[in-house]
Amino acid sequence: MSESSHRQLCYVLKTIPFKERDLIVVLFSETRGKLSAIARNSVQSRRFGGTLDLFTASEFEIDPKTIRLNEMNDETLVQILSAQAKHSMSGLSQSFEKLSGASCLNELLIKGLPAHKASPEIFKLYGNALIGLEETAPELAIAMVNAFILKFTQWLGVQPSLTRCLACEKSLNEVNGNEVFAQVSKGAWICGNCIPERGGLALSKAVILDAYHSMLNPIRKIQFVATPKEHEQLLHFLEQHLLYFVPGLDKVPLSSTRFLKNSN
Ligand SMILES: [Zn+2]
Repeated sequence: MSESSHRQLCYVLKTIPFKERDLIVVLFSETRGKLSAIARNSVQSRRFGGTLDLFTASEFEIDPKTIRLNEMNDETLVQILSAQAKHSMSGLSQSFEKLSGASCLNELLIKGLPAHKASPEIFKLYGNALIGLEETAPELAIAMVNAFILKFTQWLGVQPSLTRCLACEKSLNEVNGNEVFAQVSKGAWICGNCIPERGGLALSKAVILDAYHSMLNPIRKIQFVATPKEHEQLLHFLEQHLLYFVPGLDKVPLSSTRFLKNSN
């Protein structure tokens, strides 16, 4: 797809009903990144079919005039003329955990992805994460979300440093016990021997290993070893990490993660 084309492959991150028959949608475009659009007369419209459903990848035909206006003024919505579904993630809706996981990804992108910035790596990662969520067991949805968050922080350059104890610099294999203790403001952990009085959130060694593998491997190739409960602790840490290190998420924490935590 060329840069000048007004057809764009996009995912739907969010839809907001507007007036009687219109929808305002937040799109994640392969070539233009995150953008807000309006689809007129799209409510219950055959013309749009399921293309405006959340998590669906569609090719959108966008009015080129509105793209130019949008480039000059962020507030101007681009106008969607038509759309053709390419991949609907219908498997997600069969499980509450998977749907909750996919909602977390969308919320993270809406709040943490810079607008109008093409992010082909994140576009690909997001597509693979959705397919991964479809394929995985429902109880592993939370592990997939953690992996996505970790990869997203890598892309932003604010990933936690998880290989060694922050204090004694021993590796995960070298430290005693089965747990280490997260230090949110440092984006790191310390071991049980070095732990100061006030401690920190306990994370199992298994879930730290999952976190390493999440940062090193393609998202659909990760072999998770930690339990869902352990991943719940990791998610708790990652949420605080995002609040601390990611502009856009510093004031508004993720809200959809609560569904994942309650489901385990
Ligand atoms: Zn230590």
